[in-house]
Amino acid sequence: MKDFPLRDLNPAQQEAVVYCEGPLLVLAGAGSGKTRVITYKYAYLTKSKGLLPSSIFTVTFTNKAADEMKERIFKMCNGNWKNTWIGTFHSLCVRILRAHIDNIGYKRDFIIYDDDDQAGLIKRILKDLNMHEALCKCVVTKISNLKSNLITPEDYISNIEGYEFEERLGRIYMRYQNELKRYNALDFDDLILCVIKLFNENEDLLRRYSEQFKYILVDEFQDTNKSQYMLLQLLCRYHKNICAVGDDDQSIYKFRGANIHNILNFEKDFPDTKIVKLEQNYRSTKHIILASSAMISRNTMRKPKILWTERDWGEKIFYCQLNNEEEEAKYIAKNIKELYLKGDYEYKDFAILYRLVLQARALEEALRMEGIPYQVISGVSFYHRKEIKDVLAYMRFILNKEDNVSLMRIINTPPRGIGASAISKIESEAKKYMISTFEAIKRIIKEDTVSATLKEKLVSFVTLIDELSEKDYKDAASMIKDILNFTGYLEEIEEDRIQNVLEFLSSAEKMPVREFLDKVALFSNVDTWENKKNYVSLLTLHAAKGLEFPVVFIAGCEEGILPYFKALEDPFELQEERRLFYVGMTRAKNLLFITSVKQRKLYSKVQKQETSSFIKDIPPEYCICIRKDYSTFAPNKKEPETSKIKPPFVIGCKVKHPTWGVGVVRDCYGEGDDLKVIVNFPGIGIKKLAPKIVNLERV
Ligand code: ATP
Ligand code: MG
Repeated sequence: MKDFPLRDLNPAQQEAVVYCEGPLLVLAGAGSGKTRVITYKYAYLTKSKGLLPSSIFTVTFTNKAADEMKERIFKMCNGNWKNTWIGTFHSLCVRILRAHIDNIGYKRDFIIYDDDDQAGLIKRILKDLNMHEALCKCVVTKISNLKSNLITPEDYISNIEGYEFEERLGRIYMRYQNELKRYNALDFDDLILCVIKLFNENEDLLRRYSEQFKYILVDEFQDTNKSQYMLLQLLCRYHKNICAVGDDDQSIYKFRGANIHNILNFEKDFPDTKIVKLEQNYRSTKHIILASSAMISRNTMRKPKILWTERDWGEKIFYCQLNNEEEEAKYIAKNIKELYLKGDYEYKDFAILYRLVLQARALEEALRMEGIPYQVISGVSFYHRKEIKDVLAYMRFILNKEDNVSLMRIINTPPRGIGASAISKIESEAKKYMISTFEAIKRIIKEDTVSATLKEKLVSFVTLIDELSEKDYKDAASMIKDILNFTGYLEEIEEDRIQNVLEFLSSAEKMPVREFLDKVALFSNVDTWENKKNYVSLLTLHAAKGLEFPVVFIAGCEEGILPYFKALEDPFELQEERRLFYVGMTRAKNLLFITSVKQRKLYSKVQKQETSSFIKDIPPEYCICIRKDYSTFAPNKKEPETSKIKPPFVIGCKVKHPTWGVGVVRDCYGEGDDLKVIVNFPGIGIKKLAPKIVNLERV
């Protein structure tokens, strides 16, 4: 205990860290150090209790959160990190399944279907059953919900009450599961369900893992769904050493099956649970805490809690209503630029949060106009881009010839003259003989039932795949290189897509093929591709959970957007939307800006917008309304603030200082003898200088 830094924690956090005998639930508001408790507890268990890293099962919600957690833990402990179990539910389950899934009838080299693959398969099934493709999204959500509630196709079908849609859904679900099995593929929900099945059917395996995992740590517990909770319960069958931390006010993944009742049931399912509440917030200023607490207290379904902070009051929350989304974006970009130029913040300190992915477009444009570097964290993830998915489909098909979804993607990519009619012939052949699509192609070649030209194309495709499959690749990158060389894919795509493929290639170096494919498949669209650089972050409110930024903007706070229009009529959904807004507000450490617009172009229609009712829930004493009119704004016209700047020190110009060398001017104010220039000198930092006293030379 001597070398354990308990002094970094407040008494309640300490209590949560050192309590290790039996179930523990840490229920606390945003920014109160829940994640900190998890990381310190991990360190405490290994350092003071002598547990091996391999015996602590630590789960959190996103890969990004898991990586951050690993980083924080590694910093605190310097031990042997080879065999840690810190990750998302999905990634940890994949590890268990790779070792044992053959016990439940799959092969160990199963592939993982991401959202796109899943949609691809569902669309094919819909087509086959003569149903409209437009149903796909709805069907995917429904099936995923059934799965996360542990309802199998058989269970579902036997409980149908005769509605037509239910019957159809039952058929699609059954068919979907069968096809996945046939391709030896698992979707995200299966990853968890299969581990549950594995443990339920193999008591000795369960016993072995519960003996190995002597302690279970769960972050963001409020967002676990039924199947994830079931898995946790299984792992705790032989001991009750589990610590779950969560905040009921931040449960925002109901649409993915998250079950807020898990928090409420925890005490029932784990008798003698010790509950620790954390009430001190370390993240935000008083204004931010009081405003967000008042706002969320309007929800009725919640455990009341009081958050307080020792931090100062800070600035009030800035609320600004603008005319339209372009002006809103300009307002945000201008504010970022101004704050950046003042020198207190780097670009990575800013986040712009929004409810809908489509809001990003206007924001991106304004940032580009201002020359502000940014990265969109949610939206189409890097690995979901077409060019990357194409290459991935080749990789997956090379490893698994049953994978029809990947085959369909590559059969005519790059174009090789195998058109729609050829494909439908192949598919009907596959159906007729109940063989895989690839087998069907081979059969067609052998039987010689198509034209000579088509046959030639099919033969060369099969040869290509056979050649690519023969090799023993030393890493994923060498496989990608061969795919690109053999197919000539790069010649078919545009320059920026080529760059993406090359970036993808470099990320695959020195990684075993399977490990690489698992990593990529588990990369969901709430994860970042690269977050270390100095960029402003743009992300959805959902993706922002658990993160913190010194300056936060929440854009589009209007009725119909936040709260989203589908929630307006339903009090439960409305509460979920309010929690989402709460998550957004509580990401801010120092400054919080909220914006809305009077009219917005949505789905190519201009609509009148009303300010979000949530803003009205923020007491006026914590908020100031800013009036800005950007309707006359033109990119080159100077804003009043910047017109103060006098030549020769224009923002962005380089100057030379006698001691500190060359730096870049960030801001400039005052006149004549009072002129002050703020300069950033690389490696030295930001300095305020008076040209009257110091000789500053323009370079
Ligand atoms: P969220 O609800 O958003 O997930 P959280 O409860 O997990 O938040 P953390 O992210 O663990 O909170 O902590 C919020 C911030 O407060 C972090 O920057 C963390 O380092 C800091 N912090 C937490 N506890 C302490 C403490 N005892 N002393 C100093 N700083 C702390
Ligand atoms: Mg947290």
